[in-house]
Amino acid sequence: MAVLPVAEARFEYSVPVLVIGAGACGLTAALAAKEAGADVLVLERDAKPTGSTTLSTGLIPAAGTRYQKALGIADAPELLAGDIWRKAKGQTDRAIVDAVAAASGPTVEWLADHHGVAFKLVEGFLYPGHSVLRMHGTPHRTGEELESALLAAAGRLDIDIMTSATATDLFAQSDGRVTAVRFSRPDGTQETIGCGALVLACCGFGGDKEMVRREIPEIADAEFWGHVGNKGDAVKWGRELGAALADLGSYQGHGAVAVPYGNPLNWGVLMNGGYQVNSLGLRFSNEVRGYSEQAVEVIAQPGKIAWDIFDEIRERPILGFADYEAIHSLGGVRKAASLSELAALLGIPVDALARTDAEVNLRREGKGEDRWHRSFRGTQPLQAPFCAVKVTGALFHTQGGVVIGASARVLRPDRSPLPNIFAGGGAARGLSGPSNWGYFSGAGLLTATTLGRIAGTSAGRLVAGGNA
Ligand SMILES: Cc1cc2nc3c(=O)[nH]c(=O)nc-3n(C[C@H](O)[C@H](O)[C@H](O)COP(=O)(O)OP(=O)(O)OC[C@H]3O[C@@H](n4cnc5c(N)ncnc54)[C@H](O)[C@@H]3O)c2cc1C
Repeated sequence: MAVLPVAEARFEYSVPVLVIGAGACGLTAALAAKEAGADVLVLERDAKPTGSTTLSTGLIPAAGTRYQKALGIADAPELLAGDIWRKAKGQTDRAIVDAVAAASGPTVEWLADHHGVAFKLVEGFLYPGHSVLRMHGTPHRTGEELESALLAAAGRLDIDIMTSATATDLFAQSDGRVTAVRFSRPDGTQETIGCGALVLACCGFGGDKEMVRREIPEIADAEFWGHVGNKGDAVKWGRELGAALADLGSYQGHGAVAVPYGNPLNWGVLMNGGYQVNSLGLRFSNEVRGYSEQAVEVIAQPGKIAWDIFDEIRERPILGFADYEAIHSLGGVRKAASLSELAALLGIPVDALARTDAEVNLRREGKGEDRWHRSFRGTQPLQAPFCAVKVTGALFHTQGGVVIGASARVLRPDRSPLPNIFAGGGAARGLSGPSNWGYFSGAGLLTATTLGRIAGTSAGRLVAGGNA
């Protein structure tokens, strides 16, 4: 990964807009650039584009959509922006939060109406940090459906996606204008292509173990469940180009990846009154602050595991989520007619689980103070049949990256823009602040799609001679 002088670039072909990465951000950027009138080429390292997008649940938070209005849900960009800001404790870029929140509803409707992505609102529980129902997902709630729909849309617009093409080097003028990109093929051959504008959509650095250990040591020993091909290239090039970098310690963790299956267990079971215990049958945290910060809580427990304890009433809203169905069909959901039977099934102390459940039930009635300051008020006691899933904590993707302005243009430390580089999704600084606790549920695909669209539109306008 290097940034080289333009004099060394040898290329015959040039494209107006070049996008690196064919996940949700890159594909959304490509669709928007094409709509803005620019020809566009996407470079993707894998033989078949997947990215973290395919591994995800595919849920995108958006405010003020017709899907919400149809269910009578009052939402607005200001409410979404306030929720994101609160979760990040105000330690992020307010202008980007506002721009993303404003673009969220129109982006989801644009993806549906112009590009055939089918959405349905998730009902039955609120995700951590959200004031209202606003998670939009594909029919089976999978990232695979989202990625496939975006690829089909790109196909309909005749957007070229060159696969098995790993971008390795950028050629840049002294002012930071990138004029060409070199990429390598699986057989080791290298090619170079010129560009008028560049969109960095190659996500974060979760796939570079060394970089994770250096920037985020607390999560380095957890499993990485994101796309292994995301090796921090945007950060590496950005640093050499003189771009500002921020929040490299920020990431999306997840505190309930089903063991040994690898599917995330939906947080809805906890949001509606379930809880987590360790192998001693004891709770250890406030489970509903968010799933990201819960990753380190879970891997700090004996054996780095915990059990999500819930019942069939809490299970109901997540039936139909492909991830849950997979865990279920593989035998990962243990069920029992009584708590003591459940404890025996899980191999955890019967008395401890009974005490934990009794204590939670007192908190449900508003009696006593929860040691971890979680409110259980208004939730009903768990009922037979009781359910449990064994989980661990994992890293899903990193949230730090190149700093961008509201038009998704990459900025220098003095906030002046680099001439022709844009970024979004996991490649750009996220909305989460400096650490793990600021990750707002769904912020990954929210920034991938909204900033992808903004980056593509801005890049398209720039090459057409307009203002980015
Ligand atoms: C299990 C799981 C569940 C998740 N669920 C959700 C969810 O429901 N909602 C949500 O908002 N977020 C979720 N996330 C996070 C979300 O998946 C990511 O934030 C989002 O997909 C990032 O999109 P992206 O386009 O930036 O990156 P990606 O989708 O990872 O795409 C980046 C692409 O760039 C390619 N690439 C990298 N480097 C190069 C290079 N040098 N040259 C060429 N190509 C390159 C990669 O191969 C990849 O295809 C989840 C993550 C995981 C792991």
